[in-house]
Amino acid sequence: MDTRSGSPRDVLDDAETRTRYARHVLLPEVGLQGQRRLAAARVLVLGAGGLGSPALLYLAAAGVGTIGIADDDVVELTNLQRQILHGTADLGRSKVASAVDAVARVNPAVRVETVVQRVTPGTADALVAAYDVVLDGTDNFPTRYAVNDACVRAGIPLVWASVLRFDAQVAVWWAGHGPCLRCVFPQQPDEGEVPSCAEAGVLGALCGTIGSLQAAEALKLVLGIGEPLVGRLLVHDALRQSWDTLALQADPGCAACGTPLAGRRDEGGSGAGGRGVRDGAEGRDLLESSEPVAGVSARELSIELRRPHPPVLIDVRPAPERALVSIPGAVAIDLADFRSGEAFSRPELGGPGTPLVLYCKTGARSREAARLVAAAGWRYAANLTGGVLAWVRDVDPGLATY
Ligand SMILES: [Zn+2]
Repeated sequence: MDTRSGSPRDVLDDAETRTRYARHVLLPEVGLQGQRRLAAARVLVLGAGGLGSPALLYLAAAGVGTIGIADDDVVELTNLQRQILHGTADLGRSKVASAVDAVARVNPAVRVETVVQRVTPGTADALVAAYDVVLDGTDNFPTRYAVNDACVRAGIPLVWASVLRFDAQVAVWWAGHGPCLRCVFPQQPDEGEVPSCAEAGVLGALCGTIGSLQAAEALKLVLGIGEPLVGRLLVHDALRQSWDTLALQADPGCAACGTPLAGRRDEGGSGAGGRGVRDGAEGRDLLESSEPVAGVSARELSIELRRPHPPVLIDVRPAPERALVSIPGAVAIDLADFRSGEAFSRPELGGPGTPLVLYCKTGARSREAARLVAAAGWRYAANLTGGVLAWVRDVDPGLATY
């Protein structure tokens, strides 16, 4: 469903929109650029229940441009103690329909995409691949593990939480940056092994606390600010009002994300990757190697570059092309130097454990360079899918193109 008509090119062109988001724009970490980034973002919320309720309301209020809502339930009387998207008049309605109305009340400019079916291992990949960030507010283990695995394969961060009685846990699972759900909880519990909220109860307001926290993490990820809960598990006890964080490690033997870069899109295959511009005129894709090259989207890269320990960004194009347009902060190392091996003595490459992202105009030459880097022993060499043209299109439309 599309509730917006005729969106202007710059969503912040009109005064009313700027006024609506003024308290965000005032934040130096957000500003107009951040608000535009939110408007361009696509966030999927799984479950329009206890956690999804506050999360959806805050994401809509924040001006996230496109929000996906997936739920296959109808509103029941027992939901109303905590699922604040829905009111008494919504009893018996589909939760998704009720959620769409609630989002539209808060912010009619949000484009809402709805899925009224249960997410399964068979449907999760296609569903999550269309989004930048996924927020899990579901309450059943098969869905949670299916969504984790799909997010690992797509390289998408998953803002996860679990609530029961007065206790909650929150984490951002993001393969390649930290652990995934299976790294920390490798075994999916059997049905009935862990009590559900329906069996054990849950403090309604705790869902508000935690769903809001998930929305804040999703917004941080979109904006590329702060330190999201990647590699940390937040543990909250509402009775003691205690908050603790546990450091978590990715498990190299993890069934979902255990191989380095297994979570990234494989550009060499015919799978879900290849969102970027395919390279026709730019030149040869001369490697027949079956070695997959990890791909990173322009949006993902823009988030990664704002982290405390960003990857080293390498522009493999010759100087005349670099002079036309380049990504700020990039190191110039010509593809020819990778072919000759000279590049590997450049100090900017660091060692085999240094994460690298390589780019060219549309992605073909840097894919070759990434393969050469991987063959030389670097473990985390990714290719910017679609090249600098994708960066201009998706991240910084003010830059020149060619
Ligand atoms: Zn894992």
